[in-house]
Amino acid sequence: EQKSAAPVILVTGGARGIGKGISSYLLGCGYRVVMLDILREDGERLARDLAHLGDIRFIRADVADEDQVSSAINRIRNWFGYLNGVVNNAAIAEPYTGPLEFLALEDWQSYIDVNVTGTFLISRATIPLLQQSQGAIVNIASTRWLQSEPQSEAYAASKGAIVSFTHALAISLSGQVRVNCISPGWIAVDAVSENGHLKPVHLTETCHRQHPAGRVGRPDDIASMVKFLLSNESGFITGQNFVIDGGMTRKMVYE
Ligand code: NAD
Repeated sequence: EQKSAAPVILVTGGARGIGKGISSYLLGCGYRVVMLDILREDGERLARDLAHLGDIRFIRADVADEDQVSSAINRIRNWFGYLNGVVNNAAIAEPYTGPLEFLALEDWQSYIDVNVTGTFLISRATIPLLQQSQGAIVNIASTRWLQSEPQSEAYAASKGAIVSFTHALAISLSGQVRVNCISPGWIAVDAVSENGHLKPVHLTETCHRQHPAGRVGRPDDIASMVKFLLSNESGFITGQNFVIDGGMTRKMVYE
């Protein structure tokens, strides 16, 4: 049953932004998708809106909370008994935290809790389900793993940790579960306005032109790589970090 049925993929942070794009892309490719997010309303609405495309389910949970992760993964175990893939995408995605001299410990800690510990907790809980299907993990880091703008230390440190976590886990799970990482550059996602609603970001010609690829990235640019890294077509790839940034980190800039 397991081999013939559509693969089951867990996408964390699936209710908005890149995670939403990954969830709908995979669903459109015939996968079964479980989205996990702290935003119940967005997640439930998205699951309803996409239900006509296939089997998509939503679980409300905080990736940084050990008990919530454990009961979320128990639900998946009861539904399917296994997982073919996990996408660790949930994060505090805002890079800027102001001058380090004024960064509160609790704010620093929240980046580590969600971005790093969340990736650890979800991976730990899903490894047994992935081992049953020779599955794969894809972690979402950032080009800020490698390069920075000012006042983004907590975010950068959390993303660096994810790149290192990826190769360490890939080696531990040799021959069982492949583990890779994607480092996106600038991917345009809806912004949250003051009244809490989502609105498309306004992109100018300058935004697009500074990318060697000629445009700002889109969630599907990440989703198609996620799909490849989850599939057997990438069966000889593990422990790697793939930069998807329209060429931005290859561009030399003089002032
Ligand atoms: P986003 O804020 O639009 O989406 C993040 C999602 O994660 C949201 O749905 C949010 O509710 C969820 N989330 C946050 N904390 C959570 C928690 N504790 N438990 C469960 N869910 C939680 O951000 P995005 O731009 O879509 O970013 C997605 C991923 O891509 C992040 O890992 C981010 O760091 C990375 N990334 C984004 C960009 C970009 O340009 N958008 C660039 C590089 C890397």
